Amino acid sequence: MSAALLIEDLVKKFGTGKAAVDGVSFDVPAGEIVVLLGPSGCGKTTTLRCVAGLEHPTGGRISIGGRVVSEPERGTLVSPRERDIGMVFQSYAVWPHMTVHQNVAYPLKYRRKGADSGSNIETKVRETLELVGLGEYAQRPVTSLSGGQMQRVALARSLVYRPQLLLLDEPLSNLDSKLRIRLRDELRRILKMTGMTGLYVTHDQSEAVVLGDRIGVMKDGKLLQMAPPGEIYNRPADSFVANFTGASNVLKGKVLERNGDQAVIDLGAAGRIAAWTPQPLSPGENARVALRAENIRLGERGPANSFTGRVTERRYQGMQTIYDVEFGGQKVGVLELGTAARHNDGEVALTLPPDTCWAYRDEGQVSVD
Ligand code: ATP
Repeated sequence: MSAALLIEDLVKKFGTGKAAVDGVSFDVPAGEIVVLLGPSGCGKTTTLRCVAGLEHPTGGRISIGGRVVSEPERGTLVSPRERDIGMVFQSYAVWPHMTVHQNVAYPLKYRRKGADSGSNIETKVRETLELVGLGEYAQRPVTSLSGGQMQRVALARSLVYRPQLLLLDEPLSNLDSKLRIRLRDELRRILKMTGMTGLYVTHDQSEAVVLGDRIGVMKDGKLLQMAPPGEIYNRPADSFVANFTGASNVLKGKVLERNGDQAVIDLGAAGRIAAWTPQPLSPGENARVALRAENIRLGERGPANSFTGRVTERRYQGMQTIYDVEFGGQKVGVLELGTAARHNDGEVALTLPPDTCWAYRDEGQVSVD
């Protein structure tokens, strides 16, 4: 079966500058949700807009449901209206002069795909409003709703005609944080219940993890890694991916040896550290070892990667404590859950489990701040 969405070597340049999307390829099988995640300006929205037909790509090919909708080399460009897609944006794109019901019924009445009959429209609108939790609000003017409710109307309006593909561009970012979390979880349920195929753009990692069957991390117009959330989090293919998804500790050293995906890195005065690596590192190369604050074990002497360090600072953050720890000229932040501080300033044992240490070629600046 062909992918619901197939993107091959997509390039989009604005004017003569650097490409905003630079050779991106991936597919979205039917019923799957792919999230494009990355910092501002990485090209995720431009990719989505090319799929929607709102931007004209410079190169590559986009196919929806096996049909090529964009291929500049052959002069193919299908208009947005003819792509059978639904779209939900950050701004609540609802018609302010209509009721909730009228907003959701509108696409069924005026879509090119063929208008539905009156009773069919009633049934579909009612079912979709129930699905998004707005069953009681059908006759309300849409402007009387809250932001979160308006976004549900926008979602219902895109779902009601069951498009082949749903495109969502930061749909939750105008909502306050509590509501954002609630709607995020509900969105996952709704999309899975309807079996929708979705492409979702965000810079918010928690949204990416909850919503994505796979996450594609982008930087500078390139797709660095496309994988299920667990793999992105536990096996980042690149130091940027590791850093962007929260591996905030970076140790610098030189490669001593590598055997398959296992490497040993010389950290200088701190000694050696064993790490996993996705790259064919060579002995003598400069390397960075990335690891998450929550993966370091303080006060424990494990069988490997065990060091003696010194706690230099403690910061309470409600339900967690961050310790700054120095060992052999290296500095790490360590996160422990719980309200009680378990370690005092001064000497402490620490273990950096090898499986949670990821080594990459040192290619200079990777900070995402
Ligand atoms: P954000 O989350 O801030 O929207 P993004 O990852 O979605 O970021 P894009 O909006 O796709 O990034 O932008 C990618 C690059 O393309 C940026 O450098 C941006 O300035 C540029 N760009 C986007 N739209 C245009 C445009 N219409 N004209 C010129 N440059 C553009």
